[in-house]
Amino acid sequence: MQINQLPPAQQQRLLKLGISSAFDLILHLPLRYEDETHLYTIADAPFGSPVLVEGEVLSCEVNYKLRKQLNARVKDASGSLVVRLMNFYPSQAQQLAVGKRVRLYGDIKHGYFGTEMVHPKIRVGGEVSLQEALSPIYPTTAGMSQAQIATFIAKALRSTPLPDTLPESILAPLNLPDFASSVQLLHAPTPDIPTVLLTARTHPAWQRLKFDELLAQQLSLRLARAVRREKTAPKIKPVGHLAAQLIASLPFGLTGAQKRVLLEITRDLAQKHPMQRLLQGDVGAGKTIIAAVAACHAIESGLQVSMLAPTEILAEQHYQKLVSWLAPLGVNVVWLTGSLKAKAKREAIAAAADGSAQLLVGTHAIFQSSVELKNLGLAIVDEQHRFGVAQRLALREKGQSPHQLMMSATPIPRTLAMSFYADLDVSVIDELPPGRTPIVTKLISDARRDEVIERIAAKVLEGRQVYWVCPLIEESDTLQLQTAVDTHAQLAEELEGIAVGLLHGRMKPEEKAATMAAFQRNEIQVLVATTVIEVGVDVPNASLMVIEHAERMGLSQLHQLRGRVGRGAHASLCILLYTTPLGDTAKARLKVIYENTDGFEIARQDLHIRGPGDLAGVKQSGVPMLRFADLENDADLLDAAREVAEQILQTQPQLAQPHLDRWLPGRESLLKV
Ligand code: ADP
Ligand code: MG
Repeated sequence: MQINQLPPAQQQRLLKLGISSAFDLILHLPLRYEDETHLYTIADAPFGSPVLVEGEVLSCEVNYKLRKQLNARVKDASGSLVVRLMNFYPSQAQQLAVGKRVRLYGDIKHGYFGTEMVHPKIRVGGEVSLQEALSPIYPTTAGMSQAQIATFIAKALRSTPLPDTLPESILAPLNLPDFASSVQLLHAPTPDIPTVLLTARTHPAWQRLKFDELLAQQLSLRLARAVRREKTAPKIKPVGHLAAQLIASLPFGLTGAQKRVLLEITRDLAQKHPMQRLLQGDVGAGKTIIAAVAACHAIESGLQVSMLAPTEILAEQHYQKLVSWLAPLGVNVVWLTGSLKAKAKREAIAAAADGSAQLLVGTHAIFQSSVELKNLGLAIVDEQHRFGVAQRLALREKGQSPHQLMMSATPIPRTLAMSFYADLDVSVIDELPPGRTPIVTKLISDARRDEVIERIAAKVLEGRQVYWVCPLIEESDTLQLQTAVDTHAQLAEELEGIAVGLLHGRMKPEEKAATMAAFQRNEIQVLVATTVIEVGVDVPNASLMVIEHAERMGLSQLHQLRGRVGRGAHASLCILLYTTPLGDTAKARLKVIYENTDGFEIARQDLHIRGPGDLAGVKQSGVPMLRFADLENDADLLDAAREVAEQILQTQPQLAQPHLDRWLPGRESLLKV
């Protein structure tokens, strides 16, 4: 079966279905099956699931009463039923001409005319032998009939050798069947197989396919990691004076968890292959200082460091903070974003190129091709999940192969970490700095907005500051902007004598930075903002946050937003305003955020509600997506695949390549990542 020998139109259609090889056809598995292996008598045919019956057409009339409808009575030795067609072609009417023998496949119901079948599959002529296997129904596309795609698949199955990639010694302990008979079975299961095992994908044949897929993923990730270990990165092994000076200058001591992750990072940096470590810690856990200490190690070793943030506001905050920490120690921290004036940008780029910029902080602009770093040793990426893999790659190509530290507040559930992130080492800060008072969350109906505004005034009188977050309106950021502008006007009017600021995505970067700086200096007490403040913003004196239309936001997003308060020693409050009436899902979601303060648990529930695709940028992560296995239900298979991948690479490495060639053809580029 050669796909490229088919007519181009057919090739196009197959391509639409994601099929470009005979093996793709083989993996094009049925959506469901029809059971035409058993012929029922009309009287005995069960209700509730599709059945095959056969009989003779007794009568056939087209009825025009309400709308055009064809009613035909079909009879066998046991009884009769009515076939009803609401829309039909003349050819279908001919199939049901009086006296014809027909086979009908469909659901039998009690209807207006007694026992009836509505729009059954009709085949003329009886006494044809019955099907021996269940009939597969495939996903298809316009212009490609079931019969056609089934023919292609059957040809592919006949003409493609399917030697097993795994030996019995691996399959037997896992009770997995061989590959060829597994796919054959799934395309044409015998009628004795309970269909529920097929549709629920729990049949051993399904298990085998899922296992193979997961194994390919595990193998490729492990190989990618091995390739990385072959690369050399500068060993960063400073005496540690600079880091010690920084830590001594802080008004706080590091937590145990912070010390532990620092050790993990320092150990990695001293290796001769590039670190690729994900630093995970809930919002407010104190990741920035860890990044700064790691930067000190690289800088003391004479290397440059880049620190990248997803938004300009966040990058600016990092810049301010890093300057305040490191400039007194004589480190040259340089700011570089897309919005810099031409001259400033030229200077920053020059400083990057000649190596005088020891720490380069900014947004994506760092990646622009005009920016070359003389000797990048450590690349730090904050809020890693906001970046796609393309950006991660671009970064890697900047330096030779720098050490990489990625930071994220979005916890990765275990199964995701094991599959999509298996090539990363992970450090977790699982402890918040001491002296934080827990954030109290309140759910308040929007009808009580006035009370909330009074509360704001009281907070400001106590010397605290307030965020008011306007809803995310996905369809329209114009609308979101309008809500923010209106809310700002309303609050400014009602909160006399209090400075109310406004921050939104459409403002110029300088305006945003100026507003944020004023808020940081407490010249603005109430900041009305769109969700631009979601990530990383740090103003410890802000202890009240109001989030409007909380019911519209994602759980992890709410958690991230809420983490903007509760950063200082003051009792903090987060008010979630919702609009009534609330639907059941909205209620359930708000309950989760109300009851949980642990970002991990919230992420788990978020994963449950939204599915893994949304989480942590998995979709653009460049790691092969799973077609058959799913992480929530197949955790056991994932465990097994992980163990087997390990075992294969250690004891039977010759098995790996044939398996990868089958499952991930053309994915060699992955190994270069
Ligand atoms: P995140 O992990 O969300 O990026 P940050 O790095 O912004 O958190 O830290 C939150 C706040 O906690 C900052 O003001 C930071 O200076 C402070 N902080 C960090 N570590 C400690 C610590 N060990 N003790 C007290 N405060 C700390
Ligand atoms: Mg942060």
